[in-house]
Amino acid sequence: MLSDHTLRVYPDPVLREETKVIESFDESFDTFVDELKNFMIEYDGVGLAAPQIGESLKVAVIFYEEKFYVLVNPVIKYKEGEQRDQEGCLSFPGIFEDVTRPYRVIVEARDGKGVPYTVEAEGFLARAMCHEIDHLNGRLMIDHLSPMKREMIKKKLSKMRREDNDS
Ligand SMILES: [Zn+2]
Repeated sequence: MLSDHTLRVYPDPVLREETKVIESFDESFDTFVDELKNFMIEYDGVGLAAPQIGESLKVAVIFYEEKFYVLVNPVIKYKEGEQRDQEGCLSFPGIFEDVTRPYRVIVEARDGKGVPYTVEAEGFLARAMCHEIDHLNGRLMIDHLSPMKREMIKKKLSKMRREDNDS
């Protein structure tokens, strides 16, 4: 069951907002994290950040190799190497583009209960973490592309919106 939150698609301004640091790990935060997970599963995403369902909060979730990662107030402490691969985002439906990311990262975060942890990730998981942490800083996949690519994507998405409104 989904609440009154809705999936936010570019250029929804909430995707660019500064997110708030999480300070209280109470029951309502718990409920919100569950909701994020449910949205991610519902829309078949690999990761989802709070702004993508309309909340400017520093929390994102990732599901990778049968494991849920809850990233609260995450910070990339170290990055190394480079990888280039196709990336998608639930806020850019139908768009897949090559994006360059670090190959390996060390991320410090808190889990859903507020317990600090460190995770070393490489390859796909490192990419997913960079993508979600970008969201928490108002940064999006298209910011990593050339201005020309970016314009093409904007046009494509606005055309899709017009077609949705016509039907
Ligand atoms: Zn995304």
